[in-house]
Amino acid sequence: MPHHYDPQNIFARILRGEIPNDTVLETEHTLAFRDIRPQTPQHVLVIPKGAYVCFDHFASEASADEIVDFHRTAAQVCAMLGISPADGGNGFRTVSNAGLDAVQEVPHYHMHILAGRPLGPMLSRRD
Ligand code: AMP
Repeated sequence: MPHHYDPQNIFARILRGEIPNDTVLETEHTLAFRDIRPQTPQHVLVIPKGAYVCFDHFASEASADEIVDFHRTAAQVCAMLGISPADGGNGFRTVSNAGLDAVQEVPHYHMHILAGRPLGPMLSRRD
Protein backbone atom coordinates (compact mmCIF):
# COMPACT_ATOMS: atom_id res chain seq x y z
CA MET A 1 0.00 0.00 0.00
CA PRO A 2 1.50 3.41 -0.92
CA HIS A 3 2.07 6.04 1.75
CA HIS A 4 -0.83 8.48 1.98
CA TYR A 5 0.10 12.04 3.00
CA ASP A 6 -2.54 14.16 4.77
CA PRO A 7 -1.84 17.82 3.85
CA GLN A 8 -3.87 19.00 6.85
CA ASN A 9 -1.48 17.49 9.43
CA ILE A 10 -0.10 19.98 11.94
CA PHE A 11 3.48 19.99 10.59
CA ALA A 12 2.19 20.68 7.06
CA ARG A 13 0.33 23.65 8.56
CA ILE A 14 3.53 24.81 10.30
CA LEU A 15 5.41 24.57 6.97
CA ARG A 16 2.70 26.67 5.26
CA GLY A 17 3.06 29.29 7.99
CA GLU A 18 -0.51 28.76 9.21
CA ILE A 19 0.58 28.14 12.79
CA PRO A 20 3.70 29.40 14.59
CA ASN A 21 6.72 27.37 15.62
CA ASP A 22 9.86 27.92 17.67
CA THR A 23 12.43 27.53 14.89
CA VAL A 24 15.96 26.39 15.73
CA LEU A 25 17.26 26.14 12.16
CA GLU A 26 15.80 26.34 8.65
CA THR A 27 17.34 25.38 5.31
CA GLU A 28 16.10 24.94 1.75
CA HIS A 29 14.67 21.46 2.41
CA THR A 30 14.48 21.15 6.20
CA LEU A 31 13.00 22.80 9.31
CA ALA A 32 14.09 22.18 12.90
CA PHE A 33 11.90 23.51 15.72
CA ARG A 34 11.28 22.96 19.41
CA ASP A 35 8.69 20.36 20.45
CA ILE A 36 5.66 22.03 22.02
CA ARG A 37 5.55 19.40 24.82
CA PRO A 38 9.24 18.78 25.51
CA GLN A 39 10.04 15.43 27.10
CA THR A 40 13.64 16.42 27.85
CA PRO A 41 15.31 19.79 28.57
CA GLN A 42 16.32 19.90 24.90
CA HIS A 43 13.67 18.45 22.54
CA VAL A 44 13.90 19.46 18.89
CA LEU A 45 11.98 18.06 15.91
CA VAL A 46 13.65 17.94 12.50
CA ILE A 47 11.30 17.69 9.52
CA PRO A 48 11.74 17.68 5.76
CA LYS A 49 9.77 20.35 3.91
CA GLY A 50 8.57 17.73 1.43
CA ALA A 51 5.39 15.70 1.91
CA TYR A 52 6.65 12.47 3.50
CA VAL A 53 4.68 10.48 6.04
CA CYS A 54 7.42 8.65 7.92
CA PHE A 55 11.05 7.51 7.81
CA ASP A 56 10.79 4.79 5.19
CA HIS A 57 8.70 7.02 2.91
CA PHE A 58 11.34 9.77 3.13
CA ALA A 59 14.32 7.43 2.84
CA SER A 60 12.93 5.64 -0.20
CA GLU A 61 11.41 8.55 -2.15
CA ALA A 62 13.14 11.83 -1.23
CA SER A 63 15.92 13.19 -3.44
CA ALA A 64 19.55 12.83 -2.44
CA ASP A 65 19.67 16.60 -1.84
CA GLU A 66 16.73 16.42 0.56
CA ILE A 67 18.18 13.44 2.43
CA VAL A 68 21.62 15.00 2.82
CA ASP A 69 20.17 18.36 3.81
CA PHE A 70 17.94 16.72 6.43
CA HIS A 71 20.79 14.89 8.11
CA ARG A 72 23.26 17.78 7.91
CA THR A 73 20.63 20.04 9.49
CA ALA A 74 20.07 17.53 12.30
CA ALA A 75 23.84 17.40 12.88
CA GLN A 76 24.00 21.20 12.92
CA VAL A 77 21.24 21.29 15.54
CA CYS A 78 23.28 18.90 17.70
CA ALA A 79 26.26 21.21 17.31
CA MET A 80 24.18 24.30 18.13
CA LEU A 81 22.80 22.65 21.27
CA GLY A 82 26.27 21.53 22.38
CA ILE A 83 25.06 17.96 22.89
CA SER A 84 27.43 16.08 20.61
CA PRO A 85 29.92 13.84 22.44
CA ALA A 86 32.48 15.06 19.88
CA ASP A 87 32.12 18.57 21.34
CA GLY A 88 32.29 17.40 24.94
CA GLY A 89 28.50 17.27 25.20
CA ASN A 90 26.63 14.67 27.23
CA GLY A 91 25.02 13.05 24.21
CA PHE A 92 21.49 12.72 22.85
CA ARG A 93 19.00 10.28 21.36
CA THR A 94 17.28 10.48 17.99
CA VAL A 95 13.85 8.83 17.68
CA SER A 96 11.47 8.53 14.77
CA ASN A 97 8.05 6.97 15.27
CA ALA A 98 6.17 5.43 12.36
CA GLY A 99 2.61 4.21 12.40
CA LEU A 100 0.40 2.56 14.99
CA ASP A 101 2.77 0.44 17.05
CA ALA A 102 5.17 3.35 17.47
CA VAL A 103 2.28 5.73 18.33
CA GLN A 104 3.12 8.26 15.63
CA GLU A 105 0.92 11.28 16.40
CA VAL A 106 1.81 13.53 13.49
CA PRO A 107 1.84 11.89 10.04
CA HIS A 108 4.66 14.04 8.63
CA TYR A 109 8.13 12.49 8.95
CA HIS A 110 10.07 13.90 11.89
CA MET A 111 13.15 13.03 13.87
CA HIS A 112 13.10 13.81 17.57
CA ILE A 113 16.41 15.00 19.05
CA LEU A 114 16.25 14.42 22.80
CA ALA A 115 18.92 15.64 25.21
CA GLY A 116 19.73 17.44 28.42
CA ARG A 117 19.27 14.67 30.98
CA PRO A 118 20.13 10.97 31.31
CA LEU A 119 17.71 9.21 28.96
CA GLY A 120 17.64 5.73 30.46
CA PRO A 121 17.19 2.54 28.49
CA MET A 122 15.94 2.89 24.93
CA LEU A 123 12.67 1.05 25.56
CA SER A 124 10.89 -0.27 28.64
CA ARG A 125 9.82 -3.88 28.31
CA ARG A 126 6.10 -4.57 28.55
CA ASP A 127 6.16 -8.38 28.10
P1 AMP B 1 5.20 11.61 17.34
O1 AMP B 1 4.40 10.99 18.45
O2 AMP B 1 6.52 10.95 17.13
O3 AMP B 1 4.37 11.76 16.09
O4 AMP B 1 5.59 13.05 17.85
C1 AMP B 1 4.84 14.21 17.57
C2 AMP B 1 5.44 15.32 18.40
O5 AMP B 1 4.97 16.54 17.87
C3 AMP B 1 5.05 15.29 19.88
O6 AMP B 1 6.24 15.21 20.67
C4 AMP B 1 4.30 16.60 20.09
O7 AMP B 1 4.57 17.20 21.34
C5 AMP B 1 4.83 17.45 18.94
N1 AMP B 1 3.96 18.52 18.49
C6 AMP B 1 2.62 18.43 18.21
N2 AMP B 1 2.17 19.62 17.78
C7 AMP B 1 3.22 20.47 17.79
C8 AMP B 1 3.39 21.86 17.47
N3 AMP B 1 2.37 22.62 17.04
N4 AMP B 1 4.63 22.40 17.59
C9 AMP B 1 5.65 21.66 18.03
N5 AMP B 1 5.58 20.35 18.33
C10 AMP B 1 4.36 19.77 18.24
